[in-house]
Amino acid sequence: MNLPLQAYSTALLASIGVILVTMGLADRRRDWLLTCSLPFIMTGCASALRIDPALLPGSWGLQFGAAFLLGAHASGWQAVRRFQKRPGGTAWAIGLPLAWLVFSIGAVESLEMPVGSAAAHALVTAAFSGLSAWELAGERSEDLPSRAFLRGIFMIHVAMAALQVPLSAFLPVPLGGLPITNWAVLAFNILAAIHLMLATALLILLSRERAVLHSQRLSMRDPLTDTFNRRAYDQDLQLLSEDPAQALTLLVFDIDRFKSINDRFGHAFGDKVIQLAARVAASALRETDSLYRVGGEEFVCLLRNTSGEAGLQIAERLRSAFEFAGRRLDGVQMGATLSVGVASSGNGPVGFDRLFAEADAALYAAKNGGRNRAVLAGPLTRAA
Ligand code: GH3
Ligand code: MG
Ligand code: MG
Repeated sequence: MNLPLQAYSTALLASIGVILVTMGLADRRRDWLLTCSLPFIMTGCASALRIDPALLPGSWGLQFGAAFLLGAHASGWQAVRRFQKRPGGTAWAIGLPLAWLVFSIGAVESLEMPVGSAAAHALVTAAFSGLSAWELAGERSEDLPSRAFLRGIFMIHVAMAALQVPLSAFLPVPLGGLPITNWAVLAFNILAAIHLMLATALLILLSRERAVLHSQRLSMRDPLTDTFNRRAYDQDLQLLSEDPAQALTLLVFDIDRFKSINDRFGHAFGDKVIQLAARVAASALRETDSLYRVGGEEFVCLLRNTSGEAGLQIAERLRSAFEFAGRRLDGVQMGATLSVGVASSGNGPVGFDRLFAEADAALYAAKNGGRNRAVLAGPLTRAA
């Protein structure tokens, strides 16, 4: 057997494992790297056992090595599950390789079935990689570009391991069940190193992509109400301006006499009223509508593919829902209401600045008309 190659592989895998452990221990936010280190450490152990097979009695070195390799795939699956924030499965990840070890030392040793054992090993390996690919497939809520690549890596591994099953009778250990050869060790070590490093690199890349997505989302959100903020509004308008044919309706609403609520019940209570308005608006709107907090207690709703009349109905629904919800809050009688201005591009494309100005003028008309009302922009409000 090619001992220098085996020793080199062991040193490389162990070094990467140690680096990942050190990085994981150095910062608690990166402790998932500890799980990522396990496939390297376990493959390293399997590789170390092949340096001197006489280290353990009989074919134990081989069987332990095979169990470590299964452990490596099982912990790779665990690393993916951890990344996908799915708990559980640890019992299977530990239990299956252990069961393999007990079975292989107990039965395979005495039954002398190296080919059957290699085929079964390849099958379980394919199953673990298949599970990893499956874990990565079900996620829709987070759009991470590298996820499909990592899934592809696992799918390729599934295909290769599945191919090993029928080929076990023709390939030498560690690829199959025939007596070990140098080329098989070399091919196995190179493939294992490529698979491990690519999968880990992609997992690290995915965690970076997740962090960037998270901060992008945060930068578009208002921390008090968790609605979109002014920046998101500007960005969405920019995107919508590329599709001027779409009938768009804007609602601009503002809580009535809010200064007096702040004065009577305090600023912190005022904040709760703003949060209440956001919650009521969110439930009055539809899936395709977007809600933005653009000022202190002023919000904009962007209603896609909506006529002015339909927009006015939604505004009226919002107004009456807040009138009901705003009667009292935390046991305090406050009688809060809001006014809504509605403007629509329904009659033909108009600039967003003009649309906003029209909705704002309609809001002004609603305030002047006595508040707690919704007004659709028209000739009267345009003249105002
Ligand atoms: P109107 O019916 O005409 O809208 O009267 P108003 O008193 O509500 O007047 P306006 O809309 O101008 O009031 C805005 C007030 O909102 C002024 C400011 O003190 C308060 N405000 C702005 N941002 C916040 C915030 O984040 N929290 C709280 N509690 N108050 C805020
Ligand atoms: Mg106000
Ligand atoms: Mg205001």
